[in-house]
Amino acid sequence: MQQPSLPAPSLPAATENAPRKRRPPRRVEVSRVQVLSPAMRRITLTGAELQGFEVNDPASYMKLIFPEPGQAEPVRPLPDGPRATSMRTYTPLAVRPGALEVDVDFVLHGEGPASTWAAQAQPGQVLFLMGPGPGYQLDLQAAEHVLIGDDSALPAFETILARLPASARVRVLMEVADAAEERALFSPATLQAQWVIRGADKHAAGQALEQALRESAPLPAQSRIYLACEAAAMRRIRQLLTGELGLARSQIVGRGYWKLGAVNHPDHDYGDDA
Ligand SMILES: Cc1cc2nc3c(=O)[nH]c(=O)nc-3n(C[C@H](O)[C@H](O)[C@H](O)COP(=O)(O)OP(=O)(O)OC[C@H]3O[C@@H](n4cnc5c(N)ncnc54)[C@H](O)[C@@H]3O)c2cc1C
Repeated sequence: MQQPSLPAPSLPAATENAPRKRRPPRRVEVSRVQVLSPAMRRITLTGAELQGFEVNDPASYMKLIFPEPGQAEPVRPLPDGPRATSMRTYTPLAVRPGALEVDVDFVLHGEGPASTWAAQAQPGQVLFLMGPGPGYQLDLQAAEHVLIGDDSALPAFETILARLPASARVRVLMEVADAAEERALFSPATLQAQWVIRGADKHAAGQALEQALRESAPLPAQSRIYLACEAAAMRRIRQLLTGELGLARSQIVGRGYWKLGAVNHPDHDYGDDA
């Protein structure tokens, strides 16, 4: 299915290995809040300081700074000052440079400054935004793409789906808390999506993905896999893929998007230790 809702970026591509530059924080305001499902909010951020904010790679990331307890709005960070403790990593889902807008989809998982802020977000509220940082280098020659992850990676997957050519095939395996979180996915490529249910217990993160992978048809030997979910689950699933399921490590890019029991899990956890 096709839905050209995510704009193609226009600047030269950054890479996974590009040096990290700290760009000045941009003040943004909430202009719209949409309820996508019980546990997912789409929040549109806007502001004059979004001038020049453009995103190249799919599955790029940015940093959002949320108010600390007792603050009506966060304090603008100083260029070389300490990192804000309430800074978290999010995917710029759709960027509309002309309108100075960026959409962000937030999982409401119930804890932490980002999730609790998103649950109450109202137009006019202020955040600071930094980035973007590099994302996923698509292999446009690959015959088959496979996206395996949980709801925190759903926005990233949507940016990848939007960039695939019509000649590609893509399989998505997505874990969500319950069936009410499922939604239609779109891509110019031939798309096959499977949703699996985690349930309310965060400690079950990744288990439904592992089970589905064991039960599903084998993944093609030449497929390119983007795997993004809870950090320990990402490591287990990569071992499953490279062990029992016989895929090469080089076919897989793994990313821990969050970690059970850890606040502000780093944005660069590729699971290289596993
Ligand atoms: C590159 C990248 C892109 C990301 N893009 C998005 C995005 O677009 N949308 C999105 O919703 N998330 C995204 N994430 C994940 C997000 O950064 C984390 O979920 C982050 O921890 C949320 O911050 P918080 O303040 O809500 O919780 P924190 O203060 O970091 O954590 C509080 C508690 O909540 C738990 N927790 C954190 N995240 C989750 C979760 N998703 N599900 C269940 N429990 C959780 C932690 O284990 C901890 O116990 C992305 C992460 C990365 C690395």
